[in-house]
Amino acid sequence: MSGTDGLTKEQLKQAVCEAIERRGNEIIELGETILHHPETGFNERKTAALVADAMRAIDLNPETGLAVTGVKGRLKGSRPGPRLALIGELDSLRTSDHPFADPHTGAAHSCGHNAQIAGMLGAAMGLSALGEAAGLAGEVVFFAVPAEEFIDVAERLRRKQAGEIEFLLGKPELVAKGHFDDIDMAMMIHVGSHDQMSRRSYIADSSNGAVVKQIRFFGRASHAGGAPQLGINALSAAQIALNAIHCQRETFWDRDTVRIHPIITKGGDAVSVVPAEVTMETFVRGGSLEAIVDANMKVDRCLRAGAMAMGAEVEINTIPGYLPQRNDRRFAEVFGGNVEALFGPGHFDIGGHRTGSTDMGDIAHLIPVIHPYLASARGKTHGADFRINEPEHGYLTPAKLLAMTAIDLLYGDAAPAQEILAGFTPAFTKDTYLDFARGLFKTERYGGA
Ligand SMILES: [Zn+2]
Repeated sequence: MSGTDGLTKEQLKQAVCEAIERRGNEIIELGETILHHPETGFNERKTAALVADAMRAIDLNPETGLAVTGVKGRLKGSRPGPRLALIGELDSLRTSDHPFADPHTGAAHSCGHNAQIAGMLGAAMGLSALGEAAGLAGEVVFFAVPAEEFIDVAERLRRKQAGEIEFLLGKPELVAKGHFDDIDMAMMIHVGSHDQMSRRSYIADSSNGAVVKQIRFFGRASHAGGAPQLGINALSAAQIALNAIHCQRETFWDRDTVRIHPIITKGGDAVSVVPAEVTMETFVRGGSLEAIVDANMKVDRCLRAGAMAMGAEVEINTIPGYLPQRNDRRFAEVFGGNVEALFGPGHFDIGGHRTGSTDMGDIAHLIPVIHPYLASARGKTHGADFRINEPEHGYLTPAKLLAMTAIDLLYGDAAPAQEILAGFTPAFTKDTYLDFARGLFKTERYGGA
């Protein structure tokens, strides 16, 4: 088989890599510009404008403002076929002691999403340079998406109340707004740290999902020395709830990899006053929907127990977080072939379970996806020492791997893409997914007078 002007698949991959190399400095500069202008989820205005400009410059005619800041450009193939999205996440984290943190907001790219955007745009430049020569079937959709990191919960809840967003994460919000309706399969590449990875690249089979909880205990203020017997100590209620949560840990199956990591965000008003209001946040993570639902039920029980013991009141706000990730095996193998083509055998690994979470998990319940890691950084992911130390592999290699995998999937009659689609059983339809996710939003008040 060959492309319209007779290039074999391997020649086409060679050509796309050369096209990416030719624009290498520009692609690296895009990644570094975003690194130095970090913006948190749903606030990525400058980053989104930069993406839209880069897409316009290669005639991709982008749609903008998708789920607030998302940007989507399409490269149509020469005949109908599967629509493959190459995704880059726009948002930063907050890590105020990171050397490239925004001094005003504390926002910093300590998860390396800046490299995802550079890689996605680099793939767009490479594939558009091939033009008709590519002769691919279907479409390649270049998609910059908002808000992967679950942070700024209070701010996002305010946006939700104002009707600006329905979900607190970018990909669920894009699904709800219909922006995944015209996509059949999707991939992205996340930067990894050499300090946490033994191979150049890997794709886990799965990773944990999570629900997010905001909790408020209400008691009654009184003089902490003179009249504590007249108060109701909300901190004691929270403390009992925390102990009760810790006591649940032996009740979880090892295979469910449950992770519950609560923090107290407000412990009281003044040391001489019996705490009348105490606030907590936690994620409840697990490897399957059933595990998350079960652990979440137990956490609610523990929170009520704290309130009940002290005669306090508790408000429990549960918010949908991430669905567990499921990487498509066949899709992962196609990607892995390209890693080995660039780095040699033994540099790619598939399998295992990760206990972190991503909202690609939500997409994985609807269409086949992969979420590989590619090591090109040093330090701890989400840490102040996280740094892309190999710019070429941080910014250009992802562009090449995305473009090469797109060629593998859509070359000729797109047989590999069709095979992956035929072998995929969605866990949800869009409507049942949205029903499930909406059903996770819950506010409960328990106890008190
Ligand atoms: Zn990340």
